Amino acid sequence: MGTTNRTRAADYAAAISDRTGAMLLVHPSNFRMEGFTERPALAELATLARRFSVPLIEDQGSGWLGLDLFTPETFPADAREPAVRDSIRDGTDIVAFSADKLLGGPQAGLVVGRADLLARIGRHPLMRAVRVDKVTYAGLEATLRAFTSGRAAATVPVMRMLALPLAALEARATRLTAHLRASGVACDTAAGVSTIGGGSLPGETLPTRLVRLETDAADRLLAALRAGRPPIIARIADDRICLDLRTVPDHDDDALGCGVIDAAAR
Ligand SMILES: *Cc1c(COP(=O)(O)O)cnc(C)c1O
Repeated sequence: MGTTNRTRAADYAAAISDRTGAMLLVHPSNFRMEGFTERPALAELATLARRFSVPLIEDQGSGWLGLDLFTPETFPADAREPAVRDSIRDGTDIVAFSADKLLGGPQAGLVVGRADLLARIGRHPLMRAVRVDKVTYAGLEATLRAFTSGRAAATVPVMRMLALPLAALEARATRLTAHLRASGVACDTAAGVSTIGGGSLPGETLPTRLVRLETDAADRLLAALRAGRPPIIARIADDRICLDLRTVPDHDDDALGCGVIDAAAR
């Protein structure tokens, strides 16, 4: 609807005809438009959808449940994706979102909203082709239970990583740096950023503390790290190899240290 940068509710209204079956909004998950942009509020489109008696469907992407898992320091409010419950509150009939991005569950898609429409979706012949298996249901159930019981920030890995306080990352990075230096690996601890959202939060980062390995052959050391057992996936910035402990469970810090020492020796 509308133009690439400016779209108004009137553009939707003008496009609706007796051949319109639904209004579909797709969240721009992996890009962001800046500058002269405008889009109608969801509630405005919901009013329009009701006026024309067509369902409003939103493909929301990230699966942000909008629970108060995070303090403003660990996850700034303006970095949040639109929450599923906000979309429902604003009058969307059907919200589709990923079970794996910010929900942190198995690879799947969830469809929530009006019961009568969900029943229709469930009866559609295509449903058989896209339905998930029992293992996915079991993983999804366990993940959703973690959210309803309030344990998600501790037990769902992506939530745990997002909620990690900077002080904890700093302490672990400092300890790992000391350990590596004692074994002759040149490195330091530096401020850095964690890129979050698995492609679903463009431009969103969280402050972190990096362990940076100094080497004159960064590509070779990176390859040696990847070839180790277990493999270590790092990135290069400013000719240094950067390790972000946000993505490492803390019980793996020692194994990570050993792996880096091994790779550096090779
Ligand atoms: C990620 C995404 C999808 C696909 O989600 P899956 O992770 O494959 O379930 C669909 N729509 C949008 C807007 C997305 O961001």
